[in-house]
Amino acid sequence: PDTWMSPGSVDAALRGVGGALAGVDMVLAGKAANAFLATRPPGHHAETARTMGFCLFGTVAIAARHAMERHGLSRVAVVDFDVHHGNGTQDLLWSEKRSLFISSHQYPLWPGSGPASDTGAHGNVINLPLDPGTNGAAFRAAYEETVFPALDAFAPELLLISAGFDAHQDDPLAGLRLTEDDFAWVTGRLCDLADTHCGGRVVSCLEGGYDLDALAASTAAHVDVLIARGA
Ligand SMILES: [Zn+2]
Repeated sequence: PDTWMSPGSVDAALRGVGGALAGVDMVLAGKAANAFLATRPPGHHAETARTMGFCLFGTVAIAARHAMERHGLSRVAVVDFDVHHGNGTQDLLWSEKRSLFISSHQYPLWPGSGPASDTGAHGNVINLPLDPGTNGAAFRAAYEETVFPALDAFAPELLLISAGFDAHQDDPLAGLRLTEDDFAWVTGRLCDLADTHCGGRVVSCLEGGYDLDALAASTAAHVDVLIARGA
């Protein structure tokens, strides 16, 4: 009921997925240092057999599978900092030992999933629930404590990002208090991890963001870091 379609929706969604796969292909071939996919619709709520939350296909999870099946990677990390739980990505990668899926999200919040006790079939899922009102300092501390050590231990061969910007303080759909600086910071720290483990190979896919000014500024901050780090 929340995922409306028009005659152009399927083509747009297919192009979004195709763009993510092309980004993976280019980065793994060394033709690009990293990639950002400015895709609509987003993808991280689409489950195996269910559209949901404006998402038709699980773009980032499909990109992870592409890296594993077509390129033979055995350790692909997906970090999702959208304010909502990446329930679709979790569903698609729940039993996938070759991936590590990490989602930080306001909790409780729609879609209601994503408690820390959900850890995947093989300990390959990490959920990091954040209290409503969490600000940038607390967000950064949580990432330093939980996300970065887990990525270090996993040592990914490719890092995928579900880059939603609805944790911004101006976003009307949620109640976290991040700013553009926080999104730039987390992007830079994720690039640090990618530099350490996989030659800086990052493919980032746009997810949510519902205050258009905040979305534009936050996306620009994110992409600016990717460009600087990929230069
Ligand atoms: Zn979202």
